[in-house]
Amino acid sequence: MDQDAAVDVIVIGAGPAGENVAGRCADAGLAVTIVERELVGGECSYWGCIPSKTLIRPGEVLAAARRVPGAAAAVTGSLDAAAAFARRDSLVGGFSDDSQVPWLTDKGVRLVRGTGRLTGRPRHVEVTAADGARRVLTASRAVVVATGSRATVPPIPGLVDADPWDNRSATAATSVPRRLVVLGGGAVGAELAQAFRRLGSAEVTVVEGSPRLLAREEEFAGEEVRAAFEADGIAVRLGTRAVEVHRSRDDAAAPRGLVTVTLAGPAGPKSAGDTVVADEVLVAVGRTPATGDLGLAAIGLPPGKFIDVDDRLLAVGVSDGWLYAVGDVCGRALLTHMGKYQAWIVADVITGRRDAAGEPARDVADHLGVPRVTFTDPQVSAVGLTERAAREAGLPVRAVSVATSGVAGASVRGEGITGTSKIVVDESRRVLVGATFTGPDTQEMVHAATVAIVGAVPVERLWHAVPSFPTVSEVWLRLLEEYGL
Ligand SMILES: Cc1cc2nc3c(=O)[nH]c(=O)nc-3n(C[C@H](O)[C@H](O)[C@H](O)COP(=O)(O)OP(=O)(O)OC[C@H]3O[C@@H](n4cnc5c(N)ncnc54)[C@H](O)[C@@H]3O)c2cc1C
Repeated sequence: MDQDAAVDVIVIGAGPAGENVAGRCADAGLAVTIVERELVGGECSYWGCIPSKTLIRPGEVLAAARRVPGAAAAVTGSLDAAAAFARRDSLVGGFSDDSQVPWLTDKGVRLVRGTGRLTGRPRHVEVTAADGARRVLTASRAVVVATGSRATVPPIPGLVDADPWDNRSATAATSVPRRLVVLGGGAVGAELAQAFRRLGSAEVTVVEGSPRLLAREEEFAGEEVRAAFEADGIAVRLGTRAVEVHRSRDDAAAPRGLVTVTLAGPAGPKSAGDTVVADEVLVAVGRTPATGDLGLAAIGLPPGKFIDVDDRLLAVGVSDGWLYAVGDVCGRALLTHMGKYQAWIVADVITGRRDAAGEPARDVADHLGVPRVTFTDPQVSAVGLTERAAREAGLPVRAVSVATSGVAGASVRGEGITGTSKIVVDESRRVLVGATFTGPDTQEMVHAATVAIVGAVPVERLWHAVPSFPTVSEVWLRLLEEYGL
C-alpha cells in the first residue's frame, strides 16, 4: 500500500460541497487533495438539480405560453421528450466530468479517483482505486467529509425486487414510462411527477403518507400544488402508503414487466383492489447519508447516519478537532446552495481567514434563512420558518398573506395565474423570520426575502424597498399593507 506525502487538507467527495471546500482552501494557498469515486460535480450535476430542472423546463415553458393569449395559439403540438432528454444529456455533459475537473485542477487541487475511507488514525484517509489499488493519504490540518446522500429505499415488501427507479434512473431516463407511480410527495417526488406527466406519461400517481404534498412547507403550498397536479391529470393519493410492490415479468408488451403497488390509507388497506399498476415506480421518500462505508465506526461515530456537526461544521464527538462534514452528509439542509455555503464557512475555519477587523471571517454557519424552491408549476419558493414552525419554536409571530396574482405584474404574465404570498413576522423584533411565495417564476422572488431575514431588516424599513412596476415583486407592498404599514 502506498503512503502519500501529507497535504494540508483532504476532502472526500467532489460534489458541490466538497469541490467548494477544496477550491476555497486552495485559493487560500493550502495544498488540497480531493477524493472522488464517481464524477466531479456530484449528484446535483448529473442526477439531481441540473437534469431535473432541465426535464421540468419544457413543460413549464409550454404551460406559460398557454396562459398568454396570442402565444397560446402558436402552441399546438405536444412536448418532444426525445429533444428534452437530448438537452438533459448536453447539460449533464454526457455524464462525463471532463468540463468540471479543470475548475479544481486549475486551482491546484489534486484529484484522486477512488473511494475514500477513514482509517481510524486522525487525518488519515485510505483510497481504493477502481482497480483495487490502495494508498493512504495524510492531512496535516483537516479532513472534510462531503460524501453526500443517496435515495432512501424504504423496507416495503417487494420494492427492491421490483427494481424501482430512484432519482438517478428518473433523471437519466431515455424514455417516458406510460404509467408512473411516485412514492413520496416532497420536492423530488413532486417535481419529477409533474415533469414526466408533462413529458408524456399517460398516468402518473403520487402516493404521499402525509395529509398533503410538500408537507414541510406552508399548508397552502401543498394544497395549491395538489390542485395544479389534478388539473394536469396527475392522481394524488394523500394520507396513503405503499405497503407492497410486485413486478410481474411475464408481460410481452412491457419489457420490464408491470409493477403493482398495493396502497393503504391511515386505516389500513381500503380494499383488496386498492392497487395501482404502472410501468415504473419511483422512490422519492427521502435521502440516506453516504456514510455506510466511510470508516466512521473506527473513529467512534455511527456508520450510515448523518454526521453531527457544530456551527463551524466540525464533527461532534471526534477528539482533536480534525474532522469536518459539509453538504447533505451533515444533514442540516439537503440543498446544493446550502452545501456550498457550508463549504465556504468550513474553508474559512480551516484556513483561519480573518475579516478586515481581524476577527475570524464568517465562521458560523447560519441556517436561519435557508431558501428553497420546489420547481413545480406553481413553484413553491420559501425561506426561513413556516408560521407553524415559528410558533412551535416559541416565537411571537404574526403572519399575513395575499394572492400572488393580485398585482399588475402577475396580470401581464398571463391568464389564470394562481398563488399565494405570505410573510411571517417576529413581532418582538418586527423582522421577517419566514416567507413563502407560490406561483409561476416565484423562484426569483425568494432572494429578496432571504436578504430581509438574514439582514434582520425591520418591516418599517422594508416599506422603503420599492419594487419595480409592473413586477410580481409588488406583492411585497400588498403584504406590508396587509400587515398594517
Ligand atoms: C432529483 C433531485 C433534484 C434536486 N434538485 C435540487 C435543486 O433544484 N436545488 C438544490 O439546491 N438541491 C437540489 N437537490 C439536492 C442536491 O442535489 C444535493 O443537496 C447536493 O447534490 C448535495 O451536494 P453534496 O456535495 O453534499 O453531495 P453530492 O452531490 O451527493 O456529492 C457527493 C460526492 O461524493 C462522492 N462520494 C461519496 N462517497 C465517497 C467516498 N467514500 N469516496 C469518494 N467519493 C465519495 C460521490 O460520488 C459524489 O460525487 C436535488 C436532489 C435530487 C435527488
